[in-house]
Amino acid sequence: MPDQTVAKFSKPNAFYDTFDRKGAGDKVTHYCPGCGHGTIQKLIADCIDELEIQDRTVFLSPVGCSVFSYYYYDTGNIQCSHGRAPAVATGVRRTLPEAVIISYQGDGDLAGIGMTEIVHAANRGENITVVFVNNAIYGMTGGQMAPTTPMGQKTPTSPFGREVLRDGRPIGMAELIASLSAPVYVERCSVATAKDVLKTRKTIRKGLQNQVDHLGFSFIEILSPCPTNWGMDAVESRVWMQEQLNMLFPLGVYKDITTHLVSVDPGKYFSPLGDHKLRELLLGVAEVPVQRSVPLPQTQLIKVAGFGGQGVLSAGELLATCGMSEGIQVSWLPSYGPEMRGGSANVSVILSEDDIGSPLVDHPNVFIAMNGPSLDAFEDVVAPGGLILVNSAIVTRKVNRTDVRAVYIPATEIARQEGLLSAANVVMVTAYLIITKAFSIETLRRCIPLVLRKKAYLNQNLALVEKVLQWSADTHLLHENG
Ligand code: SF4
Repeated sequence: MPDQTVAKFSKPNAFYDTFDRKGAGDKVTHYCPGCGHGTIQKLIADCIDELEIQDRTVFLSPVGCSVFSYYYYDTGNIQCSHGRAPAVATGVRRTLPEAVIISYQGDGDLAGIGMTEIVHAANRGENITVVFVNNAIYGMTGGQMAPTTPMGQKTPTSPFGREVLRDGRPIGMAELIASLSAPVYVERCSVATAKDVLKTRKTIRKGLQNQVDHLGFSFIEILSPCPTNWGMDAVESRVWMQEQLNMLFPLGVYKDITTHLVSVDPGKYFSPLGDHKLRELLLGVAEVPVQRSVPLPQTQLIKVAGFGGQGVLSAGELLATCGMSEGIQVSWLPSYGPEMRGGSANVSVILSEDDIGSPLVDHPNVFIAMNGPSLDAFEDVVAPGGLILVNSAIVTRKVNRTDVRAVYIPATEIARQEGLLSAANVVMVTAYLIITKAFSIETLRRCIPLVLRKKAYLNQNLALVEKVLQWSADTHLLHENG
């Protein structure tokens, strides 16, 4: 037997030697007998080997029958939320320009739950390859009707058959994606017959090659049998595909403009943003000098909370901007209701010398309470040993906890004396820096103009910083409390 034939039917390197989902040593997948997923995934693995892209492939598993693909592919793997794989693929593309990204999705996942994600990723022309496995039902959850279910087909959610008035008509995804201007390659194929399988192999290879060549968005729809939910055996399901499914979803190339395209340098448009570029975008300035004063004593997990209109989000923005200007890692995560004024608002800010894995702050070690309800809401979740700064001009009670340091600052009153009632947030941020020395006051002075939207109040805001410094020196409260 020629070597090439041996290679074609042997286990691809892109698969693990064993699939250890339920204990070591398994050599079979979890797919039902006669399912098309196993065939399609073998074809993809073959193509990964052929193109020698295993070490830079990122395989995105959906929610659906193929959810466990990460047990099979010896590549980068991400298991995505239902329907969100194209959005995840976009994130991977923007951060790893040379990655080969395969978004593998079923029809419930792609054409139902994730219709928004796939349409917009296609419309942006992301340089990714989408393998869309269409078996006309939701497979994993028991065969419910999907957007691709044929008219009249009986499923657990259409027991008398799909009806046009109630359920609409089946969606042709290849036709829909091909109608957009950005995708470069759209083809529908099948794994019903041996001939179809060989054709599908070529289609997958081309879809991946397009991505390797940086040509743009490739969409491969593959009609695939689900004998289990169709209530058929493996042979019957293939016959039904040829007699019924192929009529509804004709096979063929729906769009191919790859021969007219030139390769796009992946770094040209989607390179990860460098620090200086990021600052330029966020701050609207070409460069902010990096002047790190002293290392952070510890990662600052900060929560600021109050009424909308108290500058809660701006306080977080100011802290994050100070962090960026000193070259450390920051995150800023606002949370607020629909009201612009008067509703509750809070913001989570992380300042760290290390990479930040998540912007969520569940247990802050610094909490700035701008009003009473915020103190009520967050006092209990502050980490033991943490710091609570209370706007005592508004909050009438004391902190109950004895395992935290509480500092009381009449921020609204200090701001009012300076004629800038709405700038209590600047008072609190200044007080925070005096206490913790996380950044220098000079950094704060430098960053206020970058964050402040009403430039007419710039001098008053800067004067407020000096006033807090003076108040702190006069009262010693920021150094003695707690
Ligand atoms: S339920 Fe259908 S799609 Fe899912 S593994 Fe079984 S045959 Fe395949």
